[in-house]
Amino acid sequence: MKCPKCTTTELKQTGFNAPYVCEACGGMWLLPGSRTEIPGMTVESDEEAPATDNPDSKTGLCPSGHGIMIRARIDLDEPFFLEKCTACGGIWFDKGEWQRIAETNLADNLSVIWSASWQRKQSQEKNRESFLAMNRSLLGDPVFTALMDLADTLKSHPEKDRALALLQREIIQP
Ligand SMILES: [Zn+2]
Ligand SMILES: [Zn+2]
Repeated sequence: MKCPKCTTTELKQTGFNAPYVCEACGGMWLLPGSRTEIPGMTVESDEEAPATDNPDSKTGLCPSGHGIMIRARIDLDEPFFLEKCTACGGIWFDKGEWQRIAETNLADNLSVIWSASWQRKQSQEKNRESFLAMNRSLLGDPVFTALMDLADTLKSHPEKDRALALLQREIIQP
């Protein structure tokens, strides 16, 4: 099995039922049912790859020969892509990506990442975050925080419509 990114480097299995790794680029190939702990691996080249050669920017072929893999965007602090082969279910992690996934609650349920509903939810959360951030910067911290606290309090209040009407009345007709 060849590395999908280096294309000439042979992938090495790190132990029984363990993921395969590429010692050249530090990528990891995880087959369904493999153990998912981080393999103790050494990467031969310590030199940082030039930015134009970022392995995350290109989609690779399944090392088992099933053709092009499908990407899924992960919106952590710095977004990145995981790749999966739909035929064998193998998942490719570029160097460092497994460690980032392992810090989230996604590691136990990797396949959900490729579901349309998860991707939709992720982008909705991202939209909400940027919407809130925009309002925080326009309104200023004290007003924003007070409003969010109020929103929290009113969210489940049976008379929230009345509360909104009162607020509007107080603001518009002082
Ligand atoms: Zn490689
Ligand atoms: Zn495959």
